[in-house]
Amino acid sequence: MTRVSVDGVSISYRDRLAVDDVSVSVETGHWLGLIGPNGAGKSTLLRSIAGLVDHSGSIAFDGTAIPSDARASTVALLPQNPVMPPGMTVGEYVLLGRTAHLGWLASENDHDRAMVGEAIDRLDLVDFANRPVDELSGGEAQRVALARALAQESSVLLLDEPTSALDLGHQLAVLELVNEVRCERMLTVIAAMHDLTAAGRIADEIVVMGNGRVEAAGAPAEVLTPDTLGPVFGAEITVLEAPDGTRVVVPMRSGHAG
Ligand code: ADP
Ligand code: MG
Repeated sequence: MTRVSVDGVSISYRDRLAVDDVSVSVETGHWLGLIGPNGAGKSTLLRSIAGLVDHSGSIAFDGTAIPSDARASTVALLPQNPVMPPGMTVGEYVLLGRTAHLGWLASENDHDRAMVGEAIDRLDLVDFANRPVDELSGGEAQRVALARALAQESSVLLLDEPTSALDLGHQLAVLELVNEVRCERMLTVIAAMHDLTAAGRIADEIVVMGNGRVEAAGAPAEVLTPDTLGPVFGAEITVLEAPDGTRVVVPMRSGHAG
């Protein structure tokens, strides 16, 4: 149950500006899709909301700033490339999602174990629970990392290209699963999404980023247009309408190599 407000946020790596005066707000329970070409600043913006990078400007949750090191009970981040610690099992890794709720040296209680079990179950990982995380395929690791983020039971879920390593069947299934959990728990979701068609189907609002700035923002039907997407992605883009009303975004051949 958390509204997220990002106001005038800028982030530099050394002297390069990666996020340039970005303001975005997301209502409780909404799904914001963050789209834009490689290097646009999507991951950096998500990391700042999770409290992992320094920034100027303000980031507030229900109007209140939360210190970076106290953010884990409010915000969970599924990173673009989750690090899988060698030797750890899937069950142990998902339990790490509960760290924010455990006191110093406290061991997990029934509720912690129930949340871990539910996350493992919903992501279809029961048969993987005792497998070492560093021996998983990219797609399996992505599902395990999502299970950890869901087990964290935060009210804001940040997803960084959550389906980029998944096969076609799992891509839709995982997005629908997150959507189900969002509705059950009134989660606020901010997701960097590489699949623009999927973003249009699932997001309530879309923010288009380019060169660290917000280039466009609005409902999918307003933003997913050739005129808006073409210049930002540097490609000719056509938007088709499927029989069910879905807007299908396709890049067209530009006539030259590349
Ligand atoms: P996106 O997720 O949209 O592809 P990123 O947020 O990862 O974009 O990157 C934005 C810009 O910041 C890029 O130019 C990238 O090279 C740079 N960048 C990202 N992470 C780092 C880092 N750790 N150190 C230096 N530059 C970085
Ligand atoms: Mg990224």
